[in-house]
Amino acid sequence: MLKFPIFMDNHSTTPMDPRVLEAMLPFFTEKFGNAASRNHSFGWEAERSVDQAREQIARLIHADPKEVIFTSGATESNNLAIKGVAQMYREKGNHVITSVTEHKAVLDTAKHLENEGFAVTYLPVDRDGLIDPEAVKSAITDKTVLISVMMANNEIGSISPVAEIGKIAKERGVLFHCDATQGVGKIPVHVQEMGIDLMSLSAHKMYGPKGIGALYVRKKGPRVRLAPMMDGGGHERGMRSGTLNVPGIVGFGAACELCGLEMEEEGKRLTQLRDRLREKIFGQLEEVYLNGHPTKRLPHNLNISFAYVEGESLLMGLKEIALSSGSACTTATLEPSYVLRALGVGSDLAHSSLRFGLGRFNTQEEVDYVGQRVIETVLRLREMSPLYEMAKEGVDLKNVQWTQH
Ligand SMILES: *Cc1c(COP(=O)(O)O)cnc(C)c1O
Repeated sequence: MLKFPIFMDNHSTTPMDPRVLEAMLPFFTEKFGNAASRNHSFGWEAERSVDQAREQIARLIHADPKEVIFTSGATESNNLAIKGVAQMYREKGNHVITSVTEHKAVLDTAKHLENEGFAVTYLPVDRDGLIDPEAVKSAITDKTVLISVMMANNEIGSISPVAEIGKIAKERGVLFHCDATQGVGKIPVHVQEMGIDLMSLSAHKMYGPKGIGALYVRKKGPRVRLAPMMDGGGHERGMRSGTLNVPGIVGFGAACELCGLEMEEEGKRLTQLRDRLREKIFGQLEEVYLNGHPTKRLPHNLNISFAYVEGESLLMGLKEIALSSGSACTTATLEPSYVLRALGVGSDLAHSSLRFGLGRFNTQEEVDYVGQRVIETVLRLREMSPLYEMAKEGVDLKNVQWTQH
């Protein structure tokens, strides 16, 4: 039995796993202690639960629990990592390296640093959305203090060569930050093997609650230091003051534990469903194009451009399904996705794209329904499209002389 609306936008957020909610509930009521209260059992109980969550998170990423700093989410973690390192190591240098397809929480933070006099190199990506580790190597100067490259892209799902970049960073003695928000809990993440010094995580992208995340901060080899963004009680090794969000942290820990246990099987299941959806769409529609790397991609991501169809119109025709288009609403206009543009996808095809983000609670029945509805809707919209008509008749649209008004 299908239930509507169908949620297939799991890169924007995920529904919380009921098992996570269950773990959290007592911490809103009887277990309400402040983890920083050292004088009574309410505080001790909260602290014990926070410590347990820290271990659950650390285990999933192969870190030491002491290296986990709780934040409000990946946006804050990215800000803290990038601004915190830049400020702390300013004496050493003023250069930061990142890539053009990072999340806005990284790009806007980098821009902020530029306004403060830092130099930022934005490395390009190839047609599949991947950054070249050799380009990272070439961009490093004796003023470089940080490299920030994401683990997996939130729009196209491409998985970066993180271990290669980590190796280069180590060789050159430059700190390496990785926004792993889309990767943790979906693919194996190992901060040692990947040479990561700082890493951003967010619970709500992995079936945990919103408003809680973490920054992994390496403690040895090297010991990373950070200028804190907030002054206060000196919580979280002085890097992030503020009373801990205990229910959120407990939920985050539970979410990590579940991902650790189920990731392998879930990855296989979602890969199979994702490929089924892709094959169905590619089998029944012409002029559709896959965005992102064909194999080095997240198991649950599919991003497709449907030529001659506006992504927004497509979504209008699919109101009972929650998906994202390749357009971003800015203040006045509909801009094509900067990620797709960075791959070299033309503005028309970028506007024609949809992102399918499958998740833990999607079923094969839903996938088949979504595939069928997408196909129907694309065919219907193309029937109404004069451009598609002309293209079918063999008119080369690039050579058409349009009247200018
Ligand atoms: C969602 C997301 C963020 C922002 O995370 P919040 O916890 O919502 O602040 C940052 N980076 C990537 C890659 C994301 O997908």
